[in-house]
Amino acid sequence: MEKIRERLEEVWERIERARWRRDPHQIVQLVVVTKYLEDIAPLKEMLELGQRAFGENRVQELERKAKLLENEPVEWHFIGNLQKNKINKLLKLDPFLIQSITSLELAEAIDKRAQKPVSALLEINSSGEPTKHGCTPEEAVELYHQILEKCPNIRLKGVMTIGAHTDEVGKIRESFRLTYSIFEKLKPVGAEICSMGMSNDFEIAIEEGSNMVRIGSLLFR
Ligand SMILES: *Cc1c(COP(=O)(O)O)cnc(C)c1O
Repeated sequence: MEKIRERLEEVWERIERARWRRDPHQIVQLVVVTKYLEDIAPLKEMLELGQRAFGENRVQELERKAKLLENEPVEWHFIGNLQKNKINKLLKLDPFLIQSITSLELAEAIDKRAQKPVSALLEINSSGEPTKHGCTPEEAVELYHQILEKCPNIRLKGVMTIGAHTDEVGKIRESFRLTYSIFEKLKPVGAEICSMGMSNDFEIAIEEGSNMVRIGSLLFR
């Protein structure tokens, strides 16, 4: 318990300091990424400490953990690459937020299968790295509008990105800044969430305007 508590408190503090550097009014939500964990005991401890938002990148694993935590007040975030044949399974789990819509095609597939509106983010490949998923920054605004228009069962709430995979702070910052500039263009049509920042770069992301960070390894390794 002590170790989990200490690590979580340290992360909360670092978020707090970064948020103040940006803007004292900036509120930043923490999504604890649980993909490295077998055992759910640490998640129960976190729930007791008030941490409710958890993220998984595989539907199968989200299902397993969601069942084990069935009676707990968890907000599940899906943050991974979503295959079409897993959409129904994911929707049954009633995710709080699907962070990883990457195309109109995927959005329409989710829209068609959803029995009720589901909240989601548009994932942007802001670094241009070919290994990363997400739409291009150039197409993001147009695509966002198309999804709003064509997918009544998808409640688009904003954007998500993964920072550039490099040690060069300038490049990482640039990918976040680009994503934030797209987010700003989408605020008039209801974008509220700018999800960016992971264990190695969340402070830079917050300085660039992130209001949702997704942190795993820093807490569990
Ligand atoms: C794994 C993952 C994270 C968390 O990464 P850490 O570096 O472990 O904090 C965040 N976002 C996505 C999309 C991930 O796949």
